Amino acid sequence: MFIGHYAVGFAAKRAAPRASLGVLIAAAGLVDLLFPIFTLAGFEQVRIEPGATAVAPFAFVYPLSHSLLAGVGWALLFAVLYWALTRYLAGAVTIALAVVSHWLLDALTHRPDLPLYPGGTTLIGLGLWNSVAGTVLVEGLLFVAGVWVYAAMTRPRDRTGRYAFWSFVALLVVLYVSSLLGPPPPGAYAMAVVGLLAWLFVFWAAWFDRHRTERCPPSTSR
Ligand SMILES: [Zn+2]
Repeated sequence: MFIGHYAVGFAAKRAAPRASLGVLIAAAGLVDLLFPIFTLAGFEQVRIEPGATAVAPFAFVYPLSHSLLAGVGWALLFAVLYWALTRYLAGAVTIALAVVSHWLLDALTHRPDLPLYPGGTTLIGLGLWNSVAGTVLVEGLLFVAGVWVYAAMTRPRDRTGRYAFWSFVALLVVLYVSSLLGPPPPGAYAMAVVGLLAWLFVFWAAWFDRHRTERCPPSTSR
């Protein structure tokens, strides 16, 4: 899953309005942010395997980032760090749930390649990626819903808050469509380096989120 994780980050703003969208998007995508680092460090592997699934031509070995147990561990680590820095409990709980949501959404889309724990031989994956139409439908609906929740929760304070937000959304859609239509990456190294660029989206989201403010709920507005 790709833009579906961003959808979770956007929607999480509803559960934790005071948390930065950058942090929430980092939480929902955390294990994909770690994966390229672990790949470049040699702890995890990806092979380009044309036809592995209709959507994603990849064969992954990624127990440290993408096993369920590791996901829970990353969730606790991120949540505890966040709580220690901010004392914002709703934010910390939302972060933990968002990190774990990644595994569940990947379990829906990947072919069975997600271990339950590092070294485990039971591999989970329902294989939605075998259907391009099904993937686009599910992920597209999730993304629209997530963006809608965020846009309804917040309003721009200035031009940055408006245009940096909508250009972020537009670029994600363009990248998603081109990943569906374009050729697979030339190799694991290129894929990992491109994967690192996702960190920029975290800072981009944090940036425009600071230029937006919470909308007053109808019950409390005068
Ligand atoms: Zn993932």
